[in-house]
Amino acid sequence: MNAGSTVPERSPERVGILGGTFDPVHIGHLIVAREMVEALSLTEVLFLPAREPPHKAPSGLTPAEHRLAMLRLAIASEPLFALDERELRRGGKSYTFDTLRSLREERGPRTELFFLIGADTLPELKTWRRAPELFGLAHFATAVRPGCLLSRLEELRDALPPEAIADLEAHCIPTTPIGVSSTTIRANILQGRSIRHMVPREVETYIRARGLYRAAPSETGEEQRHGG
Ligand code: ATP
Repeated sequence: MNAGSTVPERSPERVGILGGTFDPVHIGHLIVAREMVEALSLTEVLFLPAREPPHKAPSGLTPAEHRLAMLRLAIASEPLFALDERELRRGGKSYTFDTLRSLREERGPRTELFFLIGADTLPELKTWRRAPELFGLAHFATAVRPGCLLSRLEELRDALPPEAIADLEAHCIPTTPIGVSSTTIRANILQGRSIRHMVPREVETYIRARGLYRAAPSETGEEQRHGG
């Protein structure tokens, strides 16, 4: 090495975070994550399963060990995808604010964080714990989702600071619309319909082998299964 040569600046890490219940993980999650890597030049995407979403009773969710095992199978062949189990390890409700604060502390100022959401989650953001402060911890990047209009951003204008709205507007990503949801998959299994190609083959095999989703959940009604 030449004396006096300078070490090249290491390009900053750009980490995407996809939080959710993943009950189960499906191709919508995987395609969004993949396309976000390209659109935002991400160096890594963390899949972050929630232990207990703030507005959701834990009894309605499939046990974390299964949701985690399915995620592991789904991301095994993607070198840029990783699992982050911090919400499962942490007791109590899974607040995104706590999660982003701990990631920010751990990764340091050189890492840019992008919290990835589907457009259906967008209007809920204003109800999340310490919502205005979330935008100081990470960018929020929204993926288009069938039936969810990005015009719903308007609903947030009164609830969030202008910088947060500007950040959201700057990161609306036109990902390929995929109409699959975990709800569809659970309903299909319950009703004896196919889920082929909606989840990776290994995940389908896991679901079938353990007999997951064959009984109706203990709770019914409209539930918020995302972050908060
Ligand atoms: P459920 O049907 O149980 O509510 P879900 O399919 O929305 O589940 P989650 O694990 O709750 O899956 O979603 C995690 C994140 O991924 C959320 O921000 C959600 O908006 C987003 N997401 C899930 N499916 C899609 C999809 N098909 N297209 C775009 N974003 C998606």
